[in-house]
Amino acid sequence: MKSWKVLFLLFLIVASVLIIKNEPPYHTDRGFIFGTYYNICYKSKNNLQQKIDSTLKSVDNSLSPFNKHSVITAINENRDTLVNAQFTDVFNLAQIIAETTDGAFDITVAPLVNAWGFGFKQGITIDSITVDSLLQYVGYKSIRLTDNKVTKQNPQTMLDCSAIAKGYGCDCVARMLEYYGVKDYMVEIGGEVVAKGKNDKSKQWSIGISRPTDDKSGAINELQEILHISGKSVATSGNYRNYRYEDGRKLSHTIDPRTGYPVTHTLLSATVIANDCATADAYATAFMVMGIDKAVELCKKKEIDAYFIYSTPEGTINTRETDGMKKYHQ
Ligand code: ADP
Ligand code: MG
Repeated sequence: MKSWKVLFLLFLIVASVLIIKNEPPYHTDRGFIFGTYYNICYKSKNNLQQKIDSTLKSVDNSLSPFNKHSVITAINENRDTLVNAQFTDVFNLAQIIAETTDGAFDITVAPLVNAWGFGFKQGITIDSITVDSLLQYVGYKSIRLTDNKVTKQNPQTMLDCSAIAKGYGCDCVARMLEYYGVKDYMVEIGGEVVAKGKNDKSKQWSIGISRPTDDKSGAINELQEILHISGKSVATSGNYRNYRYEDGRKLSHTIDPRTGYPVTHTLLSATVIANDCATADAYATAFMVMGIDKAVELCKKKEIDAYFIYSTPEGTINTRETDGMKKYHQ
């Protein structure tokens, strides 16, 4: 080989090493928020941990019913409050999804969630009379947001955004990362995920769907399926982690706001892929209420994809998915 060729080759090697060395590192940030764990991985020359913390805290201050000083708590306690932009985002999206799901998703479900023992207040002994009396405080059509104020037809009505706030929190962190120029990231809060760009192996992000096993601790985590995601959000709602037994019946934490009772059908989990995580989160919960057939119909109209795990009469586990879901398995 001629000497100039050797020199050129050497130059290429040195240049590639320098380029690789200049690549920003991936950072991982883990913690606890909204009663669950978060896990955030992003490629950046800066450590954005403090920004992540403050973003998550601001969502908590807007939407956590466990936080005494949050906007949602003020509304639930009927204190005169002006709502902020985050609350407004979530309220408006929740109302749209309530309308499109015929009230299967409804943030006014709070009094029922509390009464069944899954909410921010202590449960009571519940019977059909209690359910009937609480139902009069439930219904998304009885609340309005105008001029930054929530008005309720009935002061007993309370809001619970738990089925959308984690997804919204992921969207807020993703937006903050984008603002700081981050192009490759995965933001996960309690199983709801936003993923964009590539992971540290230069591949699409792999997101596992858990195999439903009755396990409150979350220690058992066998995977049913792995999805490959970039530029999309994924949320899963299931009745295998958060449930309790009463008189031998398994009570799910997903309540049908129209009947007042926890859902009892064979659907074990619903995973939704959408452009934003708040939407994916809310539809995943709505689908647990609606059941597979109605959910699949709605997916076609809304251009979202879903993957369902259900139990068969023989006691085995089966799955069903929308056509658009296939591309995420490759
Ligand atoms: P997870 O917390 O397991 O991710 P979800 O996103 O489905 O599950 O949220 C479930 C929570 O949402 C319940 O614990 C309750 O607070 C609330 N919820 C229950 N049923 C409904 C419903 N039909 N519409 C809106 N929120 C609901
Ligand atoms: Mg949800």
